[in-house]
Amino acid sequence: MIERSAITIEPGHAPAAVDLGAIDLGAAMHALCAELYPTCRSITGAGVRETLAILGRHVPLEVCEVPSGEPAFDWRVPREWRIRDAFVKDASGERVVDFRESNLHVLNYSAPFQGRLAWRDLKPHLFASAEYPDWVPYRTSYYQENWGFCLSQRRLDELESRSCDDTEYEVSIDASLADGSLTYGEVYLPGESRREVLFSCHVCHPSLANDNLSGIAVATFLAQHLATAPRRYSYRFLFIPATIGALVWLSRHENELHRIEHGLVLTLLGDPGRSTYKKSRRGDAAIDRAVVHVLKHSGQDYEVLDFEPYGYDERQFCSPGFDLPVGCLMRTPHGRYPQYHTSADNLDFIRPEFLADSWAKCAAVVELLEHDRTYVNQSPKGEPQLGRRGLHRALGGELDRAGTEKALLWVLNQSDGKHSLLDIAERANLPFASIRRAAELLLAHDLLKEGSVS
Ligand code: ZN
Repeated sequence: MIERSAITIEPGHAPAAVDLGAIDLGAAMHALCAELYPTCRSITGAGVRETLAILGRHVPLEVCEVPSGEPAFDWRVPREWRIRDAFVKDASGERVVDFRESNLHVLNYSAPFQGRLAWRDLKPHLFASAEYPDWVPYRTSYYQENWGFCLSQRRLDELESRSCDDTEYEVSIDASLADGSLTYGEVYLPGESRREVLFSCHVCHPSLANDNLSGIAVATFLAQHLATAPRRYSYRFLFIPATIGALVWLSRHENELHRIEHGLVLTLLGDPGRSTYKKSRRGDAAIDRAVVHVLKHSGQDYEVLDFEPYGYDERQFCSPGFDLPVGCLMRTPHGRYPQYHTSADNLDFIRPEFLADSWAKCAAVVELLEHDRTYVNQSPKGEPQLGRRGLHRALGGELDRAGTEKALLWVLNQSDGKHSLLDIAERANLPFASIRRAAELLLAHDLLKEGSVS
């Protein structure tokens, strides 16, 4: 693990490498999810701070506090929610709904409440889902003050069966909603250039694993990997609470947004479903092409969705006033799996191998962005003699099988200063890595020079 104090990141002067290859990444990410799972997070409050403190042991995280009431475009930073305990007790004093059993049992961001209530008056404050009667739904009351509890339909039915309208229950939500601050975390890794790649994920859900913990784990381990890698781009990782976090960050960094050249919202990355990429509002940004290319050559099934103003923080990054090149990488989209926003989105639902697969795809996208350059063929009249330069020998056997000869010819043919390596990979229908290897070989033989011609 990297200690925060040990990190000094200068372009080209990386700190001692964390050898991610030597650890089981999937298991490490799952373990991080397990460590974060019990914490009761919300859009504000101690849960987010505890979460960021844990992440700070892995990456050089800067924690920012923004006071309640601060404006962020059409929004304001909400009050801080503090929750200590919550329960519904029956006449015998037994907790029939208990926050200590699962933090999902309290309506997230619930207003405080103490009192004795008749069953008929308590019922409107109880939320269950008849469709999956054993699961506790996850509900919030962020922008409409309310108090309440979430419970399984089975528990609700059981309480119903032993209550009449006048049956009294003792209700306690030992919480407060008061001025405080909104907390978010940011990792900035400067590169050779100040042009940026942005990754963002949510840190506001309580005990739910795929949504948000999988995104947090992939972002954290990607940042850890990049912290010790040579970087052409600068990288920024945001760990923010839903919607308001993105708006607050955008409102405080408006003058720097022009540096963001590529961005990805990371969410729902640990379930067994295929990878899904939702394009940026632009639809043809380099990030859109890069992610689609990586998924296409992953050898696995995948899905690409067009942008729509419904989903995660890409809605804010891609609002018309910003229109940033930010897409969203996930596995099964929200709402398309029954466990979504229920107690069944737990640590068994996400698996180390799917977290590792999602991480590898993000790393491949970064690799592509880092190495996508435009070259000019230095021997453009006819094909250069590859044999004379030993390139045919270099191609022998193994490299040939990797399709490198084809890649060499494509790179030579298309490198007229107008086509980047990604353009060439797309046109040749070859993996970016093959095209990049071919370009490196040709560069080493002075057959290419970096540069573009407009
Ligand atoms: Zn969610």
